[in-house]
Amino acid sequence: MFENINKNEKIAEKKDIKIEQIDNKNFTAVCYIYNKLGDFNIDNINDNKSFDELENKINEENIDISIFRNYNFEIIEWLSFCIDDEDKLNKLKNNQELLKGKNITEDYIDEVYSKVKDTIKQIAEYVPDIKQKEEINFNERLKKINNFFKFKDINIQNIEIVLDNPFRGKEDGSCINLGDEIIISTNTENIDNFDHEFLHTQLNSMIDNLQMDDDFINIINGMLKFEKSNIKEYGELSMQNRSALYEEFIRTYVNYFSKGEDLIEQVKEIKNIKNVDDEEFKEYLKNKVKESGKIFSEEELEEAMQKIDKEKYIESSIKEKELQTRIYAFYKEYSMQSDKNFEEYINEFPGYIKRTV
Ligand SMILES: [Zn+2]
Repeated sequence: MFENINKNEKIAEKKDIKIEQIDNKNFTAVCYIYNKLGDFNIDNINDNKSFDELENKINEENIDISIFRNYNFEIIEWLSFCIDDEDKLNKLKNNQELLKGKNITEDYIDEVYSKVKDTIKQIAEYVPDIKQKEEINFNERLKKINNFFKFKDINIQNIEIVLDNPFRGKEDGSCINLGDEIIISTNTENIDNFDHEFLHTQLNSMIDNLQMDDDFINIINGMLKFEKSNIKEYGELSMQNRSALYEEFIRTYVNYFSKGEDLIEQVKEIKNIKNVDDEEFKEYLKNKVKESGKIFSEEELEEAMQKIDKEKYIESSIKEKELQTRIYAFYKEYSMQSDKNFEEYINEFPGYIKRTV
């Protein structure tokens, strides 16, 4: 796919980004707290025993965690990465985009920080060492991403990665963007989170340069099923809110280009369901459920499948992929050439995704 692989590799190597796998007990303490408050629903903590001491200490010392109920987990999560790190805390407070997105002020950050800091530190003292899985080659991942997008300037110098928090589920990843450094937390079984979060830091502002119009926005909003799908939390697409677009750009790269999967083939496969009989259709759905990692009992599955209308399923599955299909075509054409980086390509074809493919 890359005609000019040597040139691209050089670009990737030129980026001097420091990537570090770290342990952060303050963060684990925060996850523990919110898990205890019932905000998370993790029932498969494999390492539960080692947290017995922590549990006992909290009871013995009567540590009151109720104040955390007043605050949004995400903000406390950010703060946990900044405890006793003035530099990070200032970067967080100076990130106007981040604060604006949460509708909070610098003063609010200061206020919350002063209220929760001591308790987090107190609990963190009893957080046991979490065994780290083998080192993951994040440099290799970054290089692969860069070979595809050929980023001209990456403003990030530092990436810290926190792996495998026992109080977070496989799907839960997060990223805090502190300007020239980012902190990503993810599960080892879901390392694609790394690519995903890193790409947000680079692609969002480029995607802001894409042209949208009311027609395009209406079509996409009508096709993406905001009610049920996992795009729901990003809200409907609008001139002011491009979150769904960021997501779909990143997912299309991570799910297809990075893995060498062919979206067009998958859409064909969906269309072909028309010709299969009911039994085969059920098998197909069962496999889809399996792939998604969701667990249903045999009865639940049977019952759900009785209700699925084949024609409707085909139609909605294809609609759901409409935006990704357009982005896929855009990536495909981009990857066929080698003289432009991704930003230049977006700027040259800002109206591309408005076309139907
Ligand atoms: Zn995202």
